[in-house]
Amino acid sequence: MTSRTHDAIAFASLVTAAVYFPPQSVNVLTLAVAVIGCDIGALVPDLDQAGNRLWDLLPGGNSVGKVLRRVFYKHRTFTHSILGTFLIYRGLGWLLPKLLNGTAIDVSLVFGAIMIGYLSHLAADFTTKEGLPLLYPFKINFGFPPFEWLRLTTDSFMERWLVFPAVLIYLVSFIILHQSQVLGIIRLVQ
Ligand SMILES: [Zn+2]
Repeated sequence: MTSRTHDAIAFASLVTAAVYFPPQSVNVLTLAVAVIGCDIGALVPDLDQAGNRLWDLLPGGNSVGKVLRRVFYKHRTFTHSILGTFLIYRGLGWLLPKLLNGTAIDVSLVFGAIMIGYLSHLAADFTTKEGLPLLYPFKINFGFPPFEWLRLTTDSFMERWLVFPAVLIYLVSFIILHQSQVLGIIRLVQ
């Protein structure tokens, strides 16, 4: 899937989770970092892929991506597996409290938002033809529906004109249907 679709799915997942599991309190800095963190979390799995936006941001980043691609050989590898997700989860749990100022930012909310972005990426890739190498380093790919021909092709007409608009329609209608809860969260930000 393209990073644009992943961004949209991650944000829709974050809003959905926030409505069903509303935070007790949240400040403006935490909210901003959580939204950005969710987006970064949704882009991180494709660091194993050259031409990714995160690599593009670095000087010479694309060549780094190309080298990594040669090392990992193909697009979806470690970062799209159960082992990779577990290590990212443990690594972030260790790193974030050291990286963020715990008195100004609610670190656990930011952590949750990044993981929502990350998991939403894997869930979305699960519905594509390529599937997920969940048991990496074993090279068996899993997907849903189980028949590959029923799944999405990345950057296809279906993804651009059906899936992407459907995510936006879902997001807008979800917010309209849950306006009071969404406003309640926004009101927490003082
Ligand atoms: Zn991916």
